[in-house]
Amino acid sequence: MAADNTTILIVEDEPAIAALISFTLKEADWHSVVVSSAGEAWDAIQQRMPQLILLDWMLPDQSGLRLLARVRADRQFQSLPIIMLTAKSMEEDKIAGFDHGADDYITKPFSPRELTARIKALIRRKLPEHAQSMLTAGTVNLDPVSCSVSLNGEKIDIGHAEFKLLKFFMAHPERAFSRSQLLDKVWGDHVVIEERTVDVHVLRLRKALKEAEHLIKTVRSVGYMLSEKN
Ligand code: CA
Repeated sequence: MAADNTTILIVEDEPAIAALISFTLKEADWHSVVVSSAGEAWDAIQQRMPQLILLDWMLPDQSGLRLLARVRADRQFQSLPIIMLTAKSMEEDKIAGFDHGADDYITKPFSPRELTARIKALIRRKLPEHAQSMLTAGTVNLDPVSCSVSLNGEKIDIGHAEFKLLKFFMAHPERAFSRSQLLDKVWGDHVVIEERTVDVHVLRLRKALKEAEHLIKTVRSVGYMLSEKN
């Protein structure tokens, strides 16, 4: 069972830099897609929304800043994590980037290690379910790297769908989600399954969690949540 795929869109018109970034991301086990203009980037995110965008400031058709503003103005994409890449190191440009909604900012030239660290930090902050660090709730530990779950230190048997569901809940504790939100977030938009299927997987998940089943709460007329409170 593979870890969750994280796809990063690289918007960079200098081929050598795009290649270096692409190589760096591959080394860190992330998928990447490279485009070289703002227009292509816009088309790419419509087709398949990435988990994160690395956006160059100076692009041939329009500035990365304008694309950033366009993405942020769109309800569907407004919370997409975006790191601006730029040769400009002036403080005022940095402020303009943040004003337009950039989550972070990297000044060229940057080291592959710095790039990886910044991406990891942003993923942890904005996409906890894509983070590779151990998740814990009560006596349950979930390791996203080995895709295993343990209860009081003992590994438990858990199906693929239940694992994904648990990982999502553990990444967003104390928050109620509707069945359709869970379908969307856990199974993805392209899967057609009935909302009742969620109930089936929640049932199986509780069974797999044994004495920790109480972590998965039913929230009346809403859906489900993970909570350590009683
Ligand atoms: Ca450029």
